[in-house]
Amino acid sequence: LAERAGNVGFAYDCYRRFIQAYGEVVLGLAAPPGEPGPLARELAAHKAEVGLPAEADLHAEQLVALIPRLKAVVQQRCGAPFPQDAREQLWGAIGAVFRSWNNERAVRYRQRYGIPRAWGTAVNVQAMVFGNSGPSSATGVAFTRDPASGAHELYGEYLVNAQGEDVVAGGHTPAPLARMANEWPERYAELEAVADKLERHFGDMQDFEFTIEEEKLYLLQTRTAKRSGPAAVRIAVEMRAEGLLDEVAALRSIPADSIGALLAPTFDAGALAAAKRITRGLPAGPGAAAGRLAFTSEAAAAAAEARAPVVLCRIETSPEDLQGMLAADGILTARGGVSSHAALVARQLGKVCVCGASALVIDTRRRTLAVGDVLLREGDAVSLDGGTGAVYAGSVATSPSEVRRVLAGKLAAEASPWHQRFATVMAWADRHRRMAVRANADTPAAAREAQRLGAEGIGLCRTEHMFFDDERLDEMRRMILAADEAERRAALAALLPFQREDFRALFAAMGEQPVTIRLLDPPLHEFLPIAPEARRALAAKLGVPAARVDERVEALAEANPMLGCRGCRLGILYPEITQMQARAIFEAAVAAGRDGTPPRLEVMVPLVGFPEELADQAAVVRRTAEAVMAETGERVRYQIGTMIEVPRAAVTADAIAEHAEFFSFGTNDLTQMTLGLSRDDMHGFYDRYVRKEIFAANPFAQLDEAGVGRLIAEAVRRGRQTRPNLKLGICGEHGGDPASIAFCQRIGLDYVSCSAPRVPVAKLAAAQAALAEDAEEP
Ligand code: PEP
Ligand code: MG
Repeated sequence: LAERAGNVGFAYDCYRRFIQAYGEVVLGLAAPPGEPGPLARELAAHKAEVGLPAEADLHAEQLVALIPRLKAVVQQRCGAPFPQDAREQLWGAIGAVFRSWNNERAVRYRQRYGIPRAWGTAVNVQAMVFGNSGPSSATGVAFTRDPASGAHELYGEYLVNAQGEDVVAGGHTPAPLARMANEWPERYAELEAVADKLERHFGDMQDFEFTIEEEKLYLLQTRTAKRSGPAAVRIAVEMRAEGLLDEVAALRSIPADSIGALLAPTFDAGALAAAKRITRGLPAGPGAAAGRLAFTSEAAAAAAEARAPVVLCRIETSPEDLQGMLAADGILTARGGVSSHAALVARQLGKVCVCGASALVIDTRRRTLAVGDVLLREGDAVSLDGGTGAVYAGSVATSPSEVRRVLAGKLAAEASPWHQRFATVMAWADRHRRMAVRANADTPAAAREAQRLGAEGIGLCRTEHMFFDDERLDEMRRMILAADEAERRAALAALLPFQREDFRALFAAMGEQPVTIRLLDPPLHEFLPIAPEARRALAAKLGVPAARVDERVEALAEANPMLGCRGCRLGILYPEITQMQARAIFEAAVAAGRDGTPPRLEVMVPLVGFPEELADQAAVVRRTAEAVMAETGERVRYQIGTMIEVPRAAVTADAIAEHAEFFSFGTNDLTQMTLGLSRDDMHGFYDRYVRKEIFAANPFAQLDEAGVGRLIAEAVRRGRQTRPNLKLGICGEHGGDPASIAFCQRIGLDYVSCSAPRVPVAKLAAAQAALAEDAEEP
């Protein structure tokens, strides 16, 4: 190589890189994340001995002298000499790539993106080109558009006389491609032409690696580029406008979660003006994040576990930091450019990221960060602006996103390009989706928020959430503590007006859209205080004997409350509760009708396992409805249905459907009961299950199709067998998860219902699911 290139230093630089990379990746001579391995240490020691600073390059003789030292490290650590047979080296490298499929960070990555372990990986073997062969050579990474903002301009960075890992490893800070436009215009023009061609060919934004060897441009690889959520939306809208994509392709190119990023908060302008900016790095993952500093992945994970917002701060990140990055709200690094590991991963995870803040002095061992006269320790608050790269000491208040401000009527739509993009994508989604999207909302305020975000109804109103207000809670507790039915009825009578007014406001907020109201579900002791002092205070407040409170708390205690006296069992035990709720619902419906808009009312019975349970509660509801209608002389149209959340209900759905006009799959409980896995007690073993890939994904976040999904499919089949026009929806957390939404589309549900902020995501996912189904049809 030295002879062919006429350059001894270049050849030895290649050999040095080869021994080091092969030693670390294939022979396992790497160090724990963030620390130099034995070969890097040897290189540093050699530089120090020849009197060179760490970032300077060695010249030829110095490199020649270094090689035996590196080989000696290999011999000593591995007990065998560095391999000399090129075939052995090649097989070693290939084997290392295949082995990497099972390392911990690959496992975590698969978990995050739902990639099955069984897929395995592939290896490409290519001829080498050399970006390190002199000043007319270079290497770099380019994005065909800006992956953070989505702007249509070539974006990336390069290093002259260097090899690929120098750019991505973060050890050197490369030059922005914009500089190449001035300093190397012919090559830059060539890159632009390549970018254009790649986008036209693949119909999507690309991220490609290139090397220039002696003025000649080579492409090493290209792939669909990762991008921030906002960028994904902007790129799809602009590629559609540029004619690169049709509407369907543009719609399918946006990861459904991305649309949620447009709703994320930004820093409050006033708070930002007052904040102390300590430095500026590169804006690598947009958004605003404030949290406590953590200097290791473990510390970040621990903070997240304790539900504290956290900013992970590293000199540079490596794939080993994935766990901490997943846990963090924001990521801050001192080294590395916008295509560094930290930046790529952050954008993909939708995390706020500022990288390459080179003024920061990070001491990972002492867990401090210093810049100028500021010293911050682990646990201190910092704030990151991923849109500008600014880093602030302290916690800066955030304010709603541009899109939310428009939706709330506080900013004109014409003044907000982001809202226009949001609206365009939502209009596409509405044109292509077949499932309706409702929201889970319990209060009038939540209902209005859901409507602003485009919900088409309420799929679940958990009425117990209407009792958490102080005054109502007292009455609720009085009801629970009642000595007999008469006392209980008196307490219920006091609750009735609260419920009626809430329902009335809910109907007013939703207009002609459907509203599903669920009867009381949780075990009653959830409403009672546990601590002895609190019990005594409650007794005094309600004027009941303290012993009564103790007695009731003890009587209501259950070994397995989630499998105890809850759901329809409550109403069967105390029909007066159902009567009160039904009366409040129907009186509110009559009032809404008189106000001009009769509601589209659906009354839902929870936790049904036997048709007889549903029949019992449906009878109470119907009797009450008839009574209210007779008293008021008004008709109210309504449906009665049930949640399918007990496995028995799913497998006997044909019988259940005799009494139900709709089913709503309560996949939180259905998952819990099908897996025999408490939704509140999974933390003890969840991590191990993930690491061992026993769970392909968290079953409470992404529907377990093979298990729970089968029960749902069975319930759909049996339910429609009895009642062909049975309305079918889902209201567990899975109703906002794109993969689960795709499943709902495939088995033919009519709607999904999710938390309000997920509504836009669910609409997009529902459209994509419909398009995927169309694409599969012959
Ligand atoms: C469910 O079980 O999926 C559900 C929506 O009800 P909850 O979460 O209130 O039990
Ligand atoms: Mg439930």
